[in-house]
Amino acid sequence: MRAHPAGPRHADQLNDTTPGVPPDDVNQVDPSLWPTGLVREASGQLSIHGHGVAELVSTYGTPLMVLDETDFRARAQQFVDVFGQQVFYAGKAFLTTDIARWSADLGMGLDIASGGELAVALRAGFPADRLLFHGNNKSVAELTTALEAGVGRIVVDSFEEIERLAAAAVAGGQRPRVLVRVTVGVEAHTHEYIATAHEDQKFGFSLAGGAAAEAVSSVLEHSSLELVGLHSHIGSQIFDTSGFEVAAHRAVALLAAIRDTHGIQLPELNLGGGLGIAYVAGDDPEDVKQVGAELKAIVERECRAYGLDVPTLLVEPGRAIVGPTTVTIYEVGTVKPVELDAGVVRHYVSVDGGMSDNVRTALYDAEYTTVLASRASAAQPVLCRVVGKHCETGDVVVRQAWLPGDVVPGDLLAVASTGAYCRAMASTYNYVGRPPVVAVDAGDRPPRVLLRRETVDDLLALDMGAPAVVGG
Ligand code: PLP
Repeated sequence: MRAHPAGPRHADQLNDTTPGVPPDDVNQVDPSLWPTGLVREASGQLSIHGHGVAELVSTYGTPLMVLDETDFRARAQQFVDVFGQQVFYAGKAFLTTDIARWSADLGMGLDIASGGELAVALRAGFPADRLLFHGNNKSVAELTTALEAGVGRIVVDSFEEIERLAAAAVAGGQRPRVLVRVTVGVEAHTHEYIATAHEDQKFGFSLAGGAAAEAVSSVLEHSSLELVGLHSHIGSQIFDTSGFEVAAHRAVALLAAIRDTHGIQLPELNLGGGLGIAYVAGDDPEDVKQVGAELKAIVERECRAYGLDVPTLLVEPGRAIVGPTTVTIYEVGTVKPVELDAGVVRHYVSVDGGMSDNVRTALYDAEYTTVLASRASAAQPVLCRVVGKHCETGDVVVRQAWLPGDVVPGDLLAVASTGAYCRAMASTYNYVGRPPVVAVDAGDRPPRVLLRRETVDDLLALDMGAPAVVGG
């Protein structure tokens, strides 16, 4: 590959020809971007808690997702230290039965968003009372299963759902605890597809339009439902806590209005998840302790102003717990230099996965950091784009990467911060099976497979057509 002089800007768009600036040292693994157990060894290869990538790949193949369990537990513990039992890990970010068990061990509740996630939790023996069930279109079957299992909290998201849930509860003789999801009208500073509290979208009841107050009245009219609080989730990958401040301000105002109208003080306020993590150099997420202190102070201040008792504060972090714990290891298959308009060469480095194991780049222009994982290199960095093997031009894993100019087929690349919404959103596009997730930790246990690799046989097992008769 041919090295190219650095330019001053980032290549933000798929067709952007500005190369940006290469890092000082392409071999360096910035600890703010990688799991705590990951280092570059003296031999040059990356290892996680002493497990070299070459050894992991020879056992499990590529693409491979490696999750640092010690890092997961430490990040979860930070939230528990600040919010106690009121942390509900958002399983949508990444969930397996082991993750559910770790969450229970750590004293967290679990936020689930479908009957499938409920099934994982129940299979893990997760205490149902510590489950919190979300979703804008939960089916009657999902609601009934949740009621039968004794799910601790259900967050209602539509008037239809309130009626369905009340009827199912009457039929089953249950009285579920309910929170009303409120759309607080905050424009979170994040990608449109992961912002959830502005008015024009599918989640929740509008506060400004009066639907939230109506939903509260509607829940209160059903004696089969126990209204315990309000819920607000303003979006994901948020660095700026001012959005939470506005959300808390508006939600507490509604709590006060509910007290004034109905004479009740709701005991719980759930401010959702959404805390951002570092994907690329320069991303600077706020410390959990700091965010916790800020949120508590905001809610206390607002409650004081309305003369309200301070409700118990619930949070639902997903990305901030699991995102930074995981790296994806790919094998390079081809390297194709492409001359751009501006005379710049971009090297398209194709790996053996792509949008099937990480759709976030294609879906919302997510940015990632990648390094050569199998060895260090003294070659000059070159402008690269790491792309997958799928039949889409948008099948990009890392849009803007500087890799050593001697990267060749057979090398391994590691992509950082792939723990959240990558394996969880994985698809089998092009009949490419989804990758395994293997956990390692700081102790002396061997690596453990949380999810095994999905094989073509797994996929063919779904196909009910008759196989061809050999020689027929
Ligand atoms: N809670 C709700 C209601 C969500 O929709 C989400 C994510 O979309 C989360 C929690 C978790 O968000 P994050 O992973 O950004 O913390």
